[in-house]
Amino acid sequence: MKRVAVLGCTGSIGTRTLDVVRHLGDRVRVVALAGGNNVRLLSEQIEEFQPRLYHALQPESVRAGSAHLATLDEIARDDKVDTVVVATSGNAGLKPTIAALRSGKTVLLASKEVLVMAGALVMEAARDSGALMIPVDSEHNALWQCLRGEDNGIGRLLLTASGGPFYRCSAAQLADITPEEALAHPVWSMGRKISIDSATLMNKGLEVIEAHWLFGVPFESIDVLVHPACIVHSLVEFVDGSVKAQLSRPDMALPIQYALSYPDRVPGLDAPLSWAGKVTLTFEPVDVDRFACLGIAREAGRAGMTYPAVLCGADEAAVELFLQGAIRFTDIAALVGQAIEAHQPQTVSELDQVLAADEWGRRFVMDHWDNSVLPPSSSIHGTNRKPND
Ligand code: MG
Repeated sequence: MKRVAVLGCTGSIGTRTLDVVRHLGDRVRVVALAGGNNVRLLSEQIEEFQPRLYHALQPESVRAGSAHLATLDEIARDDKVDTVVVATSGNAGLKPTIAALRSGKTVLLASKEVLVMAGALVMEAARDSGALMIPVDSEHNALWQCLRGEDNGIGRLLLTASGGPFYRCSAAQLADITPEEALAHPVWSMGRKISIDSATLMNKGLEVIEAHWLFGVPFESIDVLVHPACIVHSLVEFVDGSVKAQLSRPDMALPIQYALSYPDRVPGLDAPLSWAGKVTLTFEPVDVDRFACLGIAREAGRAGMTYPAVLCGADEAAVELFLQGAIRFTDIAALVGQAIEAHQPQTVSELDQVLAADEWGRRFVMDHWDNSVLPPSSSIHGTNRKPND
């Protein structure tokens, strides 16, 4: 039986993880739950799973029963925990991921920011302790599955992207997209931040950086293919020209389940893909001109140092401004690009530098959005006001 801590248990990946835990029955026991602001859901989860430890932002509002309050780091290091699912948002997962890896725990990584912001430090912690890290992001889980038993001969990693809801929109149409339109992803059901990142393709840019660190593949050997059906979750091309792909329904249950049941495969939570009708799978290169975030992220990843952390902080602030109606969809890329350009990078030797760079990126966007972006082009966006912060 695996003794699991779920960090970010009330978010979209966290709740799906708990669905999989229910499905896996005796194979998994939840020993710690860490939630965010949704105290009602966290209270219900604590009542159902009876964890030994819990973490909450407002612990006084949580019905915790006999569970003990703990910090994320304490949960990550706890000796009753052997597997830590990191499904937190923003930079919250950085310290607990490194703490868990240093304690030799298996980490199931679902938080992109952890590797994007601090890839070198995280991979070093895993190497030093020999701890296993299994990617839960569907693309990286697919690559990890394709690479099992393959120690060499990787030619290229091909990450698939749905293209988001606006892949066929012109540059002019992109400027007028509303938050409501951007939140409605055609295939995946996800949280608000990642839905916007998916629509700008920033999400795919962050995934390129994540793949670079996870699999030790140079940026020039990582490509992105638009695959709207979201059935092929990624592909590995080997030097001899052979290509392996992983296919499954577009649902996070499968990567979460395989990461939890690894090395065993057990019957899935959902029915497998159906091959009863005609199945057509299409792939095409990305139009990087219309989706500038992908190129900005790739360059930040390649430049390294504190750039990827600035990218994360700036994007988080810009997405929040867009969701509040303060800036246009296309201003997200403009603002993040300006933050990267203005940043004075540092070589990263400790986590605090990464967190400071993340904060610097966020601050840059908050200080520059109103005088550096064009006014809204239509009344949909209302007045160009500062959000309440
Ligand atoms: Mg993904």
